[in-house]
Amino acid sequence: WHANQVKQTLVPTHCCFCGVQCGMYLRVDEHGKVFGVEPRNHDINRSRLCPKGLNAYQQVNHPDRLTAPLLRRSRDEPFREASWEEALDFTVAEVRRIQAEHGNDAFGLLGGASLFSEKTYLVGKFARVALKTRHVDYNGRLCMVSAAGANKLAFGIDRAANPFADILQTDCLLIAGSNVGECFPVMTQYLWGARDRGARLIVVDPRETAVARTADIHVALRSGTDAAFFNSVLHVVIREGLTDEAFLAEHTTGWEELKATVAAYPPQRAAEICGIPDVQVEQVARMFGSARKAMAWHARGIEHHTQGVENCLTVINLCTATGNLGKPGAGYGTITGQGNGQGGREHGQKSDLLPGGRSINDPEARRWISEFWGIEEAELPQAGTSMMEMVWQMQRQEIRGLIGICNNPFVSLPNYAVVKDGYDTLDFHAQFDFFLSETAANAHVVFPVTTWAEDEGVMANAEARVVKHNKAQDPPPGVRTDTWVMCELARRLGVGDKFDFPGSREVFDELRVASSGSVNDYFGITYERLEQTGGIAWPCPDLDHPGTPRLFEGGLTYHPDRKVHLQTVEWHPPADPYDEQYPLRLTTGRTVAHFLSGNQTRRLGALVEQTPRPWVELHPSHGYRNGDPVRVTTRRGSEVFPALVTEAIRPDHAFVPYHWPFPTSANALTIDALDPRSKIPEYKVCACRIDPAPEV
Ligand code: SF4
Repeated sequence: WHANQVKQTLVPTHCCFCGVQCGMYLRVDEHGKVFGVEPRNHDINRSRLCPKGLNAYQQVNHPDRLTAPLLRRSRDEPFREASWEEALDFTVAEVRRIQAEHGNDAFGLLGGASLFSEKTYLVGKFARVALKTRHVDYNGRLCMVSAAGANKLAFGIDRAANPFADILQTDCLLIAGSNVGECFPVMTQYLWGARDRGARLIVVDPRETAVARTADIHVALRSGTDAAFFNSVLHVVIREGLTDEAFLAEHTTGWEELKATVAAYPPQRAAEICGIPDVQVEQVARMFGSARKAMAWHARGIEHHTQGVENCLTVINLCTATGNLGKPGAGYGTITGQGNGQGGREHGQKSDLLPGGRSINDPEARRWISEFWGIEEAELPQAGTSMMEMVWQMQRQEIRGLIGICNNPFVSLPNYAVVKDGYDTLDFHAQFDFFLSETAANAHVVFPVTTWAEDEGVMANAEARVVKHNKAQDPPPGVRTDTWVMCELARRLGVGDKFDFPGSREVFDELRVASSGSVNDYFGITYERLEQTGGIAWPCPDLDHPGTPRLFEGGLTYHPDRKVHLQTVEWHPPADPYDEQYPLRLTTGRTVAHFLSGNQTRRLGALVEQTPRPWVELHPSHGYRNGDPVRVTTRRGSEVFPALVTEAIRPDHAFVPYHWPFPTSANALTIDALDPRSKIPEYKVCACRIDPAPEV
């Protein structure tokens, strides 16, 4: 009973938003409706929640919820409400028509990294077994896939190496390209805990973020120069004898080649490329290299680049060369953006991966999964393309039909004009969502599906800790789970026997077996164990296994030779060249009140009140005053934002947050250039100019 005598139940679960995955209770009233949130003393967050977490519950019974399928046979018509039967039958008829006329690969599926892992597993299986298409990918391509690629190359495993709690024991913490205070607010408790113990803090970021303001060293480098900076830091570490030669000799390959590469990056060269004093490179090298235990954590700031994988590798190289791996307080991590950013790519919705993070090109993995799914090995499609590449294929009419689940590319993909054109070119488009997102509003069919509070399932947080979300209320009448919709579509496509899942538990049990034997092994994780423990880090190969919170203990990696494979990296400039017409660097990012494309948080009153609209952050040297209308122009578009004038940004940069749709969309300005290895877009830097505008 609470103060005004409303009977309530507290359902333990986790926040649906970022990759910290804070524990929370949802408050459920006597009618079974979610009406509030309570802090939960889970060991991830110790009862703390940020503004997004405190307001997340408001979306569950929000008046904007979709409660009936929407359908139109042409984009010229308005939507009308349709029965589930009609919406499902129409979708399947369109799948059959398009695939009969243009081949199976003419139909694609795009998933999302805010889905529970069970649903991400189903997205991959649905694409390959029901749609029989190679074209499946997900919006995690816009998140941390470059870090994933670097981890695989260096360590043979795709996850952060250390739990958050290890941060508390470090002597030196390096944060690269992460606005932790706004994007992962509750994670700052670990930073402050380390600081209380006397840990030094280094922040590498073109903007003086809240965390950067408190740092011992803030390296305000130019966006797009990270590889040059970290190569140069390693150059100084070597020069000053701060490497751990015993660790390097015993646990690495590629050290001599790496040494030769970074020899060409003296601090003077980095200073020139990065636009920083050369002495800062030396200060960082000494502080990090001489610490007894040092850690580096990074996020999209260094990952959203055409050399995103390589940027991450330069950080891995630094940690490894100084022997900072596999120990409490010493290691390496990447902070996931979406709630299930880590788990979302582990079980098959990424175009090149099968369940258990196995490569779809690996003959043994193909044999295993096709047998497990009961299909001929030859029927299992080959690897497809990435999310942005699929949009280009839509423009070329190579992909003519699409189902989107839990994503909003009209706001989240770069170069909006290209994205809109790609989707407009589709013959058929269906979207699953619980609100009418900008992307759903462009579809032929919209399936109304559950929020995270109306189903159960697991997510893996930024530590690779698998946590269980619990169902707090029944969905509104007319709403179904994504699982139910995929199974119904599969039944109509003639493979219902392979999609006989009454709920998430049955999907999870299949996922556990599908992942068993892989590096990404979930077999030992069960719902019951998660409920008892509060979370288990994978790999967890059997029911008695405690999970693996810390990787690389004893210096051992997941490559067959158990060594770190050091990789050489040469810096190259960003894709969009600067010139007299476009002299500034535009960088984009998040703000504390909003989540990704804003489809959820732009509807929640307190968050909208806190941050109602985007802005352009500019250095005072440009002569604008706060609130002045400023036109930001790139080679792809031109939009007007009010100025936020601050010395916290470099004079040669402009910053726009990306949670809003066209015509105030940061992503109408960004470039759709991709990292050739991970296919992550270069959101964090493109060339722009600014001009006074007559109006906002
Ligand atoms: Fe949710 Fe992340 Fe905020 Fe925690 S820090 S409450 S997980 S948005």
